[in-house]
Amino acid sequence: METKKGLLRKMSTKLDTPVEYQLNIGESQIAMNELIGKFIRIEWAGVIHCLKCGTKTVKSFSQGFCYPCFRDAPEAAPCIMRPELCEAHLGNARDMEWSKENCLAPHYVYLAISSNLKVGVTRHSQVPTRWIDQGASRAIKFARTPNRQLAGLIEVDLKQYMSDKTSW
Ligand SMILES: [Zn+2]
Repeated sequence: METKKGLLRKMSTKLDTPVEYQLNIGESQIAMNELIGKFIRIEWAGVIHCLKCGTKTVKSFSQGFCYPCFRDAPEAAPCIMRPELCEAHLGNARDMEWSKENCLAPHYVYLAISSNLKVGVTRHSQVPTRWIDQGASRAIKFARTPNRQLAGLIEVDLKQYMSDKTSW
């Protein structure tokens, strides 16, 4: 049986019918759709590496960071989980260069049906990846905003009427 070893990363997806999934492990890419119905074995080597800096960490924070990166990296800033807290438009960010690309860029507020009707926020370039990741069967763009914070404020308001959570 073929064995692949390495750092496991988030699966890549391609919009198709059905959606194509690719598992990224070390230098290898594995087409997961070809494995549907087949026997596979996954073994964790017991080691966690930080997604940002690659250092070994005993514990993973906020979906894959070591503690220093969780504390300092722009990818782990509070506004990633709560866009309404983003202050990049005021010139406040952990890394302004990163935020120019990632926060001060067009964002969409979307409505999607996954486990239930939900509202969410995503950067324009993450459509439809974000929806696929959440297993949405349908989604619409509800509003387009020039930055992350404004999309977050609209989402906060819509949360009165619908969930912002996906039941994984
Ligand atoms: Zn790190």
